[in-house]
Amino acid sequence: MPEQQTLSIIKPDAVRKNLIGAIESRFEQAGLKIVALKMIQLSRAQAEGFYAEHQGKPFFEGLVDFMTSGPVCVQVLSGDNAITRNRELMGATNPEEAAPGTIRADYAESVSINAAHGSDSPESAAREIAYFFEPGEIFARS
Ligand code: UDP
Repeated sequence: MPEQQTLSIIKPDAVRKNLIGAIESRFEQAGLKIVALKMIQLSRAQAEGFYAEHQGKPFFEGLVDFMTSGPVCVQVLSGDNAITRNRELMGATNPEEAAPGTIRADYAESVSINAAHGSDSPESAAREIAYFFEPGEIFARS
């Protein structure tokens, strides 16, 4: 399996519910390493740019409202097949469809308010990591 990096966001609902540690712990227990980490309040422009692929969809404005409703934790996760493994840990977008024991099954409220984000491809991961982190903010960890 290739060593990969992926961008993860603990969304405002999960931060509000005091779940930062619980979610970070799932990444670590799964063997993914946190190689960059920060807590930030997204501006509307930042949220719109991050989710640019969804511009024009009916849920877009609500998504931007939600993602700017409070601070988020953004982290870069590193490990074998990290992109797919993080998506597996998160579960399906809609918590009603998410496998038992996944982050979204346990913590998401709805298809919109769903606790976590994870890059869905190597191309997205590269774009999304660079969206939030300078190269010097990402650490090599063996
Ligand atoms: N979303 C929403 N309504 C929808 C689909 C998506 O509010 O019908 C939001 C939700 O927060 C989701 C994000 O838009 O996580 C991005 O959607 P995507 O389909 O890329 O899902 P993800 O990759 O986050 O599982």
